[in-house]
Amino acid sequence: MSMTFISIGCTDCDFRGDTLTTFGRYLWQHEGNVFQLERQLGLCLDCNKVVAVERLPDRETMERARAMRLTYKGQPLLRLLEKDDAKYYASQEHFEILEAVCELERMPVCLECGNSAIRKIELPKQIDNDTKVPLGLKHPWCAGTLQAQSSGGLRIGLNPITYTYDIHGRFLSTVNG
Ligand SMILES: [Zn+2]
Ligand SMILES: [Zn+2]
Repeated sequence: MSMTFISIGCTDCDFRGDTLTTFGRYLWQHEGNVFQLERQLGLCLDCNKVVAVERLPDRETMERARAMRLTYKGQPLLRLLEKDDAKYYASQEHFEILEAVCELERMPVCLECGNSAIRKIELPKQIDNDTKVPLGLKHPWCAGTLQAQSSGGLRIGLNPITYTYDIHGRFLSTVNG
């Protein structure tokens, strides 16, 4: 399998991370059912590394999703193809799990340690090879700032892994495949 990933570095120290850390499937499990959670790249102040963090829908998105849910009759939409978050959420099975998560009114957490001391990393839309793009994020443990760089293509064998969490974002289990 060949894929391109983005590495994250610091201008002042040898801190390193990359987008491969968000690879895999991430699920919330609740009352015997699951819902695929959205994750994004982040910096965890407790883990001191680049990690996958939860991405929770905002209030406006949830309101639109609930309204669409009432009349939605089609198949669950694919995340990659559906640009509208609300429509995507409204089409998914076990939408009630997402509702249960939102009812907790909690902060998104680090998907490695479960703590919410995180900074979201917004990746630039496009990164050319050999160009370092500032991320507008200070590295909390030194005077440097974080920057992103394309890794170019790399052949790597990554086994798809499924990570399961409870609705509080606490890690439950990992399954290969
Ligand atoms: Zn640093
Ligand atoms: Zn963490």
